[in-house]
Amino acid sequence: MATETSTITVPFWINGRETSGSGSRTGEVTNSATGEIVKHVPFATPAEVDTAVKAARAAWPGWRAITPLRRARILMKVRDLVDEHKNELAELITIEHGKTLPDALGSTQRGLEVIEFATGIPHLLKGEHSDNVGSDVDSHTLKQSLGVCVGITPFNFPVMVPMWMVPVALACGNTFVLKPSEKDPSASMLLARLFQEAGLPDGVLNVIHGDKEAVDALLVHPDVTAVSFVGSTPVARYVYETATNAGKRVQALGGAKNHAVVLPDADLDGAADALIGAAYGSAGERCMAISAVVAVGEAGDAIVAKLKERASALTVGPGNRPEVEMGPLITAEHLAKVTGYIDSGSREGASVVLDGRNVHVEGGDGGYFVGPTLFDHVKPEMTIYQDEIFGPVLVVVRTDTYSQAIDLVNKNAYGNGTAVFTQSGSAARRFEHEIEVGMVGINVPIPVPMAFFSFGGWKDSLFGDLHVHGIEGVKFYTRTKVITKRWPDAPEAVSLTMPTMK
Ligand code: NAD
Repeated sequence: MATETSTITVPFWINGRETSGSGSRTGEVTNSATGEIVKHVPFATPAEVDTAVKAARAAWPGWRAITPLRRARILMKVRDLVDEHKNELAELITIEHGKTLPDALGSTQRGLEVIEFATGIPHLLKGEHSDNVGSDVDSHTLKQSLGVCVGITPFNFPVMVPMWMVPVALACGNTFVLKPSEKDPSASMLLARLFQEAGLPDGVLNVIHGDKEAVDALLVHPDVTAVSFVGSTPVARYVYETATNAGKRVQALGGAKNHAVVLPDADLDGAADALIGAAYGSAGERCMAISAVVAVGEAGDAIVAKLKERASALTVGPGNRPEVEMGPLITAEHLAKVTGYIDSGSREGASVVLDGRNVHVEGGDGGYFVGPTLFDHVKPEMTIYQDEIFGPVLVVVRTDTYSQAIDLVNKNAYGNGTAVFTQSGSAARRFEHEIEVGMVGINVPIPVPMAFFSFGGWKDSLFGDLHVHGIEGVKFYTRTKVITKRWPDAPEAVSLTMPTMK
């Protein structure tokens, strides 16, 4: 049960100003390491959503008229300000989300890299030109902004995921309404102030808070043109279906069950070190976390022993203590969900190698802690294999052959990230070609693409056609117009036949 210690209420950010919420519905923001309520967050009413969208709509003509280079210069200042304030951002993330400070700083850095990418977007806004496509006729393309774009983001990366969207959309000439997770909304507010300090005109970036009611109002608002969503698969599917039905362009990134295939020829110590970070970093609350190891043949006993040794040595505690390697989960509800999965794993007959329930954390009473958990001999039909647990729970499935391992990964409903550990070039090449997953690591456990590539999964991990940031991000936030032009010296004869280029 969360304890009441705060009277602070997070405002919205509309038209360059803090605005208090007027609705009756609010949420609690807790310090995940103590369970204390640190802030309250207002849930936007449909009328408040409308005010934010109208502010963004009003700011669009002015913002799109500013040259791409001048827009990029503002983003250059944003980049420097985010860098200056990165410790403050990381502290907000650690208090509200729970991940360790170095991990929070790392994720802030990954967000900053997208801002750096966006400062070069003028280059990607260049169109194509063809001279003399017909006699005295030339053609060129324009890449134009869409209008008001919306971002709905999850709790696990309060800076990085909003930065996957906002800088790219803004650099392309759009205005934006961000609806961050109501569980850790403070970092978005600081980001909005930094954008303003960098010179962003009022109304270009707006932040509102809320839950389904606010999201629903955004998805069908007539002035919203495009929706970027990142979160769990059921909500991603719902957002995609609702907003596309309302005529919006949508990219909706969903959940994951990321597999690491470990072949017997792998450097097993290196693989175990990599897997510990990938499975238990951020307490497993990463969409690219490795949550299933597929151990092939004789790799099985050895990798399980090495994982057990390393995982049992991890220090669990509040993320702001320097010695801590794994912090708490986000909320009491999520803690109950994760421990419920651990209960079901042992009930369904998997071997419990390490059990993180009832972990003891010095001074951590009230925090949402669960220790590293490892299951062996997990079968594909078990719930702990089927579902995304989103906690520090790693399951090991054993297969006899490499083909069976590839088949298992490909049959999984999710397709966000995966990795293979091997010293064989041909095994790695086969993996690259045959695996049905959007982001693939070869001896790299968390293959999150750099900002100038695009991030996105396959299958139930993404609804829509375009991934975020990189060139696909620019495609998502622009639309192309083709101009065909002629400047005749003398009037042409009237013709009613289909025009063809002479
Ligand atoms: P979530 O789906 O519960 O919430 C995401 C956003 O949707 C939040 O802003 C929330 O307020 C809103 N929302 C929640 N329920 C809603 C509903 N019924 N209708 C409309 N809006 C709703 O996700 P979460 O718990 O905040 O985040 C964890 C999930 O996000 C995990 O499944 C994780 O894998 C996924 N994730 C995916 C990626 C990716 O790139 N694919 C990245 C980060 C997180």
